[in-house]
Amino acid sequence: MSAKRVGVLALQGDVREHLAALREAGAEATTVRRRSELDAVDGLVIPGGESTTISHLLRELDLLEPLRARLAEGLPAYGSCAGMIMLATEILDAGAPGREATPLKAIDMTVRRNAFGRQVDSFEADLDFTGIDGPVHAVFIRAPWVERVGPDVEVLARAGEHIVAVRQGNAIATAFHPEMTGDRRIHKLFVSGL
Ligand code: GLN
Repeated sequence: MSAKRVGVLALQGDVREHLAALREAGAEATTVRRRSELDAVDGLVIPGGESTTISHLLRELDLLEPLRARLAEGLPAYGSCAGMIMLATEILDAGAPGREATPLKAIDMTVRRNAFGRQVDSFEADLDFTGIDGPVHAVFIRAPWVERVGPDVEVLARAGEHIVAVRQGNAIATAFHPEMTGDRRIHKLFVSGL
């Protein structure tokens, strides 16, 4: 079977790290900056970065509605940190009016942007993660947390009491950055579901 073609939304954020992680996880990884590139992928990663900036660029490049439409049709997606925020149905503390992070509505959840950041800007923790053997070392940077999940959403990991990883069908989101640690198990989990 040929490798699945996975796009990384390459408007802003840690695109290179996700491309490398996806290749190590066995996918053919490619950048997505335009509609024709979006149409050509079997799955999409939305990287960590700044969700307000990624949202702004999606609107500027007329990619917002095409991306929403592909997600609504079931395009598998994985979002880390800013990407988690964008995959939500509802975003709290979404940013300044007119520059807000825009929900792509792929996962039925309410996410609070910069939630941990109000307490501590960044931290690391070892987490239990459903479907992965052994602890996952998680790096959180101005990270969101999940305040509500819908009935079809499976919680995959928590940091303390807060939900930090979820899955709904073939959409996965983590509040932390596995692309930064060299641990490819979460990218493999995503790629193996394609
Ligand atoms: N705070 C960022 C945002 O709102 C996310 C941080 C990150 O991706 N490391 O998008």
